[in-house]
Amino acid sequence: MDNHEVTMEKIVSLCKRRGFVFQSSEIYGGQSGAWDYGPLGIELKKNIQNAWWKEMTQMHDNIVGLDAAILMHPRVWEASGHVANFSDPLVDCKQCKMRYRADNMDQEALASKKCPACGGELTEPRAFNLMFKTHIGPAEDTASVVYLRPETAQGIYVNYKNIIQSNRMKIPFGIAQVGKAFRNEIVTKNFIFRTCEFEQMEMQFFVKPGEDEKWFEYWRGQRWEFYKKYGVCMDKMRWYHHEKLAHYAKDAYDIEYEFPMGFSELEGIHNRTDYDLSRHTEYSGKDMQYIDQDNGADKYIPFIIETSAGLTRNVLMFLCDAYEEQNIAGDGAAEDYRTVLHFHPSIAPVTVAVLPLMKKDGLAELAREIQNELKEDFVTDYDQSGAIGKRYRRQDEVGTPFCITVDYDSKEDGSVTLRFRDSMEQVRIHRSEIAARIREEIKSYKRT
Ligand code: ATP
Repeated sequence: MDNHEVTMEKIVSLCKRRGFVFQSSEIYGGQSGAWDYGPLGIELKKNIQNAWWKEMTQMHDNIVGLDAAILMHPRVWEASGHVANFSDPLVDCKQCKMRYRADNMDQEALASKKCPACGGELTEPRAFNLMFKTHIGPAEDTASVVYLRPETAQGIYVNYKNIIQSNRMKIPFGIAQVGKAFRNEIVTKNFIFRTCEFEQMEMQFFVKPGEDEKWFEYWRGQRWEFYKKYGVCMDKMRWYHHEKLAHYAKDAYDIEYEFPMGFSELEGIHNRTDYDLSRHTEYSGKDMQYIDQDNGADKYIPFIIETSAGLTRNVLMFLCDAYEEQNIAGDGAAEDYRTVLHFHPSIAPVTVAVLPLMKKDGLAELAREIQNELKEDFVTDYDQSGAIGKRYRRQDEVGTPFCITVDYDSKEDGSVTLRFRDSMEQVRIHRSEIAARIREEIKSYKRT
């Protein structure tokens, strides 16, 4: 392997070094399945979330937002099928105590009942429910059981009638939600790819039965285009069509991304039929039918097309996709590598960094003044320490798309240098043009 390729180790190390992601409770040896987002990580995550939110709610007149509680009535999870079905088959090695998901194991190893790590004897697969169970109130009895939601979708289904009534929504329409979900994953690995606590960005689209296949195709197209719009290398994306469907699904596709460990699921697009709303009708006793006032009060239970993406998994995807160790050696030199994150400028944690060429002679003050002018519009950074080339590299490594350098001429004529992360080109512009120029560059950005 080319030793300048992206690996998970490099991503983990960069994330820690530059404040994207830290191990949870690190000073106590870490908590598996949980990660903390540092100053740059939270900006990146927020930007991805905002891009998704904008795409769903701002760009689609018929999609509205929701923020439902994590704790829900336990009957929700009986109705959804999670109490009975949301489990992974688990096998343990009796000798080395390794634990595996039987559905992810090499099927030959599973059939031989021998541990792939040590050759020891494996137990029979056991169903292991993935929901975290806790209690509300002082008594830890069955009457007080609540679950941490394992998906955000159910919060949408139980509010679907509220939203129709309060917001006068007509089918077809959608409800978007971003929030935490929890799964007691047996194997948490690959950094933030699979964790016990994570965030989802889900949109549930309610349609008339019979129109579901059309909308399913529509949403597959929309989701693909989203990643394209935000500069993801599309040759690292592919579709996976589910042959074995979940108990609620009529059709299902995953968008997979080629992470360093191989192609893995990033987002699922599912035709969930009328399963969820029918089950909630059955379990709650409430009528979940839609009354189509425009068509002679025609009544039906809508079909649901779901787009379900992991937000934290998207953070990992955007990091891996942006990462490059680029040889920028000039004439004569064989090698000179810089690490650069080619984030789309509207995803990048910092949009513009302002750098005075020198600290002295009033350049620092002038740079601060320019930074203050830009703060209202962009997330900015300021750095005055070290050689200018070094400071550019520091910004490249965290994916800052634009740097403004303030020098002696800036004092005289108000001109500054605008430096582009990807091409490393520099142009001279007047300080009064910076904000408009950056906005223009963000709009027309194409990844090279
Ligand atoms: P898997 O089969 O890999 O466990 P799944 O098919 O059950 O995942 P979904 O229930 O469809 O996943 O969840 C929708 C999305 O939520 C996934 O595409 C993924 O991006 C994200 N997701 C699911 N589980 C996790 C997790 N444990 N950690 C991080 N993200 C997750």
